Amino acid sequence: MVRVRFAPSPTGYLHVGGARTALFNWLYARHHGGIFVLRIEDTDAERSSDDMVRAILTSLRWMGVDWDEGPEVGGPHGPYTQTARFDRHRERADALVREGHAYYCYCSTQRLQAERAAAEARGEGWMYDRQCLRLGAEEIAAMEAAQLPRAVRVRVPEGKTTFADQVHGPITVDHATIEDFVIVRSDALPTYQLSVVCDDIDMAITHVIRGDDHISNTPKQIILYRALDAEVPAFAHVPLILGPDKKRLSKRHGATAVGEYQAQGILPEAFVNFLALLGWSPGSDEEIFSRDQLVARFSLDGISGGNAVFNPEKLEWFSAQHLARLSPDELLARVRPELESGGLWDDGLAGERREWFVRVFSLLVPRARRLGDFAPQLVPFLGKVEGYDPAAVDKHLKAPGLSHHVSALADALRALEPFDEATTEATVRAVAESAGLKFGALVHATRIAVTGRAVSPGLFETLVLIGRGQVVARLEALAQFLP
Ligand code: GLU
Repeated sequence: MVRVRFAPSPTGYLHVGGARTALFNWLYARHHGGIFVLRIEDTDAERSSDDMVRAILTSLRWMGVDWDEGPEVGGPHGPYTQTARFDRHRERADALVREGHAYYCYCSTQRLQAERAAAEARGEGWMYDRQCLRLGAEEIAAMEAAQLPRAVRVRVPEGKTTFADQVHGPITVDHATIEDFVIVRSDALPTYQLSVVCDDIDMAITHVIRGDDHISNTPKQIILYRALDAEVPAFAHVPLILGPDKKRLSKRHGATAVGEYQAQGILPEAFVNFLALLGWSPGSDEEIFSRDQLVARFSLDGISGGNAVFNPEKLEWFSAQHLARLSPDELLARVRPELESGGLWDDGLAGERREWFVRVFSLLVPRARRLGDFAPQLVPFLGKVEGYDPAAVDKHLKAPGLSHHVSALADALRALEPFDEATTEATVRAVAESAGLKFGALVHATRIAVTGRAVSPGLFETLVLIGRGQVVARLEALAQFLP
């Protein structure tokens, strides 16, 4: 049974890198019919907050990454918050001391700092010198009697650790390069290395899929698994995400928090599709995948060892592609909240005007990239044009006598039969010709009259959908407005 986990620290919002780690774990679990655990690693008490936990859960849910065990869901291996498991971590550390795999260290911070500084002054690195490993029973008794604060350090055995990273292949580290690391600090707080290993053991995690930045922790953690006599999980370290300039992705590159993409109206299925392809490849050129297709295709073999480059334009492209694939009902359902809050909604749009509304959407979809692109474009169709874009007026409404020609067009359209794309276009052409105007000039004026802007979907399709009555009224309004 595959059991994986995503273990975010709630010290900030869910970012692109974490979101991708969560997604890879989730895809792996779903592909194998396994369990996806969410564990909150709130060990940095000062920087962690409940607000951030909530924000992370919201972002995961938006992505459709659901967890089988974890916060708000529960499960047989709870609690799923790391600080609530500290006692268990300390018990394990004490057991390691009893069994000789770890020892208490009474060294003061001052001494450790001084040793390190002296080594650095000589141009050398410093590793803990095992002073407390050499203490005799009497010395230990004296320190205990004096109630000196004590940390717990792992007694790193001699030898090497090799693990078969599922992305990078075998990685070997000589223990001579690993100091006797601290697993419980002198203030009794368990460290990340201990907590993560204890929790992964207790939650029966079989595969640890996480960022490359944790590769250097892995040998230490394997030493702990062995000392605790626990089975070592498989490890897969996923390469970093870089910005378009090949530097580590950061705020400088624009939005990095998942919530920002949600707020921008990027479709969640597009975001997931895009993230999945950041470092994973299906082994072909295919790019558009639904969530289900990703689940079916995902494997750790497809993760490349090279860093992935985050390209925001590509994300927009994915969003446009997925928008175009939504059914009319689905699209309407997603845009509706924004129309409601913008006062543009009326129930007829889902009732007797639905068919018309679907046609309007099919006109807008080819130019849309985000959900938020619809509401402003829908304004002219829902009958609420207020004012003209000043830049459009400046650029396109300067021809002498234009008011008169716009008025003539309104008159010609009033009696036009039938009122369709071909006839409206022919009418605009004929009126322009007899006025000695360029066709393009009258097209611009008409577009500004009916939409308020210089850009819109195809003008004649737009006119037909807006309907004769509104088109004529808006042309007359523009004629009035013009000198
Ligand atoms: N809490 C750690 C982090 O946010 C993850 C630990 C792990 O995956 O082992 O980086």
